[in-house]
Amino acid sequence: MTTLQDVDRADKDRESRAIPDALFTELYIAGQWRPPGSSERIEVHNPATGSLIATVANATVADCEAAVAAAADAAASWAARPPRHRSEILRRAWEIMVAERASLAALITTENGKSYADAQAEIDYAAEFFRWFAEEAVRIGGDYRLSPEGDKRIVVSREPIGVAVLVTPWNFPAAMATRKLAPALAAGCTAVVKPATETPLTAGAIVDILARAGVPAGVVNYVTPRPAGPAVRAMLHHPAVRKLSFTGSTEVGRLLLHEAADNIVSASMELGGNAPFLVLESADIGAAVAGAMVAKMRNGGCACTAANRFYVHRSLADAFTRDFAEAMRATTMGPGLDPANALGALISDAERNKVAAVVARAVDEGAIALVGGHPPSGPGAFYPPTVLAGVHPDAAITQREIFGPVAPIIVFDTEDEAVDWANRTQMGLVGYVYGDACSAMRVAHRLQAGMVAVNKGVLSDPAAPFGGIKQSGLGREGGSEGIEEYLEEKYIAVDF
Ligand code: NAD
Repeated sequence: MTTLQDVDRADKDRESRAIPDALFTELYIAGQWRPPGSSERIEVHNPATGSLIATVANATVADCEAAVAAAADAAASWAARPPRHRSEILRRAWEIMVAERASLAALITTENGKSYADAQAEIDYAAEFFRWFAEEAVRIGGDYRLSPEGDKRIVVSREPIGVAVLVTPWNFPAAMATRKLAPALAAGCTAVVKPATETPLTAGAIVDILARAGVPAGVVNYVTPRPAGPAVRAMLHHPAVRKLSFTGSTEVGRLLLHEAADNIVSASMELGGNAPFLVLESADIGAAVAGAMVAKMRNGGCACTAANRFYVHRSLADAFTRDFAEAMRATTMGPGLDPANALGALISDAERNKVAAVVARAVDEGAIALVGGHPPSGPGAFYPPTVLAGVHPDAAITQREIFGPVAPIIVFDTEDEAVDWANRTQMGLVGYVYGDACSAMRVAHRLQAGMVAVNKGVLSDPAAPFGGIKQSGLGREGGSEGIEEYLEEKYIAVDF
């Protein structure tokens, strides 16, 4: 049902599909936008055109250490604020973000390449973390019990863990920042956020929103160092830092876990995925194809949750493949700001070339490209919707995260076979299952994944615990669990 508000919003969106007037290109430390300690700048390009959008400050290691020091200075007073104050600031941040949805979405599309519709959906999702954790900020509980021996009261209070370093990827430049900042601030932690070098402008805009919402100086700091390695390493070795929350590739996550170990820094890791999408014998083909389109094509396939491998029961394989290929063929591709395009650009030519190499290898191994299969000529990091049939269950493409609009289809005969193939990976973030409720739930329990979508093509929800098992990560973001990552229990033994 469309409401008057929707109509109003749609009108505004048409008016203002332009990036914000002010871009935040410096560092934000101790409540001030300030230049870095070096004159070096980082160029940010529009991947759909290759054109330069802006240059941002290249933060030095000393800048990053200053950001941690500012967060450390602000820590005690922020932790001491009444939860209701922290909650209301986060609520204001949600309101501002929703009001500025159109220009923020345009900014995401411009620096990331994704379609404007995907960018709008990201802003809705990203803003919701502020609202959700505004609500969680006032619900941090504790415990009070009598010891079994009756010799004391066991009082457990839950306290902010301390200064948090938040490192985010380019594929969801707004949502990955708010999914960390919101629970950190709600819990009473102060933070330094380091966005991906490819997409720093969206994170800068979010930091500005938090400042306008009333976050005091030093509570949120923002740095953009390149290379990231030495700067993040220095922050993790700063004695004030007690938390690392990282979203990105498993390779970098592994490296940062090693670095966090030196100072025993608590680490939450949201890493790579390799989601299987299972179409069981009892599935409704229309629903499965619609779900496959969302699970594969949301964010142009550049989501850790993206369906990476499609396992389809032999009895449905022909019909599913035909209808899915048709829907993929009908997907229009081009610059994301043009509303006609459902699929935008990938983040860079290098990423586009990686996707092309994965497809070329799959074809060498016997797959047939029913749709797509070759990058178009011309400017921009585009790769077309691609469906690969006849993929062998052990093909290399089943073992790597594609991160692009490419769907390999593998045919199975038995449920055991499908589950075995689906679980044959070191990743364990998401699985998708289509089928009758009983079979789909049975398979959902057998999949090795932190999250399973049953007869749904998308499952991300700020109110649900998001995270992976195996090499897809440690810890959860969102839900009532998300704030726990930023809290520590303190046990006080009391003898009256
Ligand atoms: P990436 O690992 O290359 O980079 C992520 C972040 O780490 C960026 O900010 C980058 O600048 C920084 N970084 C890179 N090298 C570093 C180093 N040596 N030391 C410290 N920081 C470093 O990942 P990406 O290419 O930006 O994002 C894509 C990956 O992120 C995919 O694997 C995707 O699955 C994953 N991802 C996971 C989730 C999740 O919730 N599980 C969500 C989104 C993306």
